[in-house]
Amino acid sequence: MALRVYNTLTGQKEVFEPVRAGKVGIYLCGPTVYKPPHMGHMVGPVIFDAIKRYLIFKGFEVTWVVNITDVEDKLIAAAIEEKTTVAELAQRYTKDYFEALAGLGIDTIDHFPKASEHIPEIISMCQSLIAKGFAYASGGNVWFDVTKDPSYGKLSHRRPEDQESGLRELEGAGKRNPADFGLWKSAKADEPHWDSPWGKGRPGWHIECSAMSMKFLGETFDIHGGGMDLLFPHHENELAQSECCTGKPFARFWLHNGLTKIKTKLASGEVKNEKMSKSLGNVIDAKSLLAQHGPELFRYMLLITHYRRPIDFSDEVLLAAKKGLSFFHRLFQRIERLAGLVFAGIAPADMNAISEEMLQGKTETFARSALQFRTKFLEMMDDDFNTAGAIGVLHELANEINSFLEQTSAERDKPADVIKAAVAATQMLRILGQILGLFRQTIAAAAGNDDALTGKLMTLLITLREEARKSKNFALADSIRNRLSDMGVTLEDRAGGTEWRTQ
Ligand SMILES: [Zn+2]
Repeated sequence: MALRVYNTLTGQKEVFEPVRAGKVGIYLCGPTVYKPPHMGHMVGPVIFDAIKRYLIFKGFEVTWVVNITDVEDKLIAAAIEEKTTVAELAQRYTKDYFEALAGLGIDTIDHFPKASEHIPEIISMCQSLIAKGFAYASGGNVWFDVTKDPSYGKLSHRRPEDQESGLRELEGAGKRNPADFGLWKSAKADEPHWDSPWGKGRPGWHIECSAMSMKFLGETFDIHGGGMDLLFPHHENELAQSECCTGKPFARFWLHNGLTKIKTKLASGEVKNEKMSKSLGNVIDAKSLLAQHGPELFRYMLLITHYRRPIDFSDEVLLAAKKGLSFFHRLFQRIERLAGLVFAGIAPADMNAISEEMLQGKTETFARSALQFRTKFLEMMDDDFNTAGAIGVLHELANEINSFLEQTSAERDKPADVIKAAVAATQMLRILGQILGLFRQTIAAAAGNDDALTGKLMTLLITLREEARKSKNFALADSIRNRLSDMGVTLEDRAGGTEWRTQ
């Protein structure tokens, strides 16, 4: 089945075909590094990490670029406030951003270009736009003339009149039209600046992304991503200036992810649901969220919503994600106990762990149905990277494995072929999850303080109770069970082994 992707530019799902056969270039707008990263900054990286993994799985060679905006009005204001230099501030928060990405196990980004290191490319783009009549210099600034671009507005479907002239711009002195936007801004003596044909100045925000994306991915590339809030004016302006500069199409597919909204209860009892943003002051610091819950839960929580929908962050959402994720972990523990194995050595080839032999005899129905779930998972991902649907399919597969273990035989000791088939299906499930960046040893090992330890302690208690039973020390076995029950933990002895759940 062909991969279809929703393209904001055309407003519909289209069959994905790369510009260059077998290769995919992705550009994702990165952070302006003037404050510590919050949860909202991690949404794009988590989603595009899953997208890149899936594209690699489909056989593409993928280059993914995320820029760092280290020259911008907000940085200058923040540096003054913190009594430091823009360079020091940018360095500090870039480091924080990298730490948050590493903490989440996002190791798939190939380049992190910085705006401050691409000034020559930006200046030459400004010059070319002036030469072609799309831009003009005035009082040390360079402006893009929106009236010269007949297709301006084709991405966001907004008209030039909607452009807020003050937005992320200097005061509009010398502008010909209110909607014209700045490519280059004259700088005050105490602001970061570079020499240019128009005097000392610094780049506008939009042109940074055009210059860096084209440098790393070519004038026409495959996927441009970013939050829905960047669609206008940022992406519209990027698109206009890039295509006017090169005369070629810029990004083929524009993917916009939903924003993180946060539910807060006011003192009056009223519940507010608003966008998480630095300026609203309702941000959840990425570092503390990671430390508390671990990278896997964080990822899982973001991926159980389709990327184009808003993510409503609340305690309930977090709890639901926790339950969903622990369902998988209980299955893995169950299989590990049953088969006496550890999943550490799992390899991508285990995707095909269901063998011909399993497709015969009494494991046949189960093995065939497990393979159908794999097809369904891939269909979900082919349908505009529907990670939410794909995780739903993994849940169905996990249910299928659990009921297979329970149905096949009532006795505790399972026939070897049953265990083998269950292990193979679980290996396949894990590899499918790894396409989304889940169920990886590195991030599981870094699970939140609470979860990782709890899982290990429960496995230990269940094993001790089984040992007590085997040596006929039923008083001790019952005591373990009863005392756990007092703490709100229920043990369930099932055909496939003992399960635990919190009440
Ligand atoms: Zn950008």
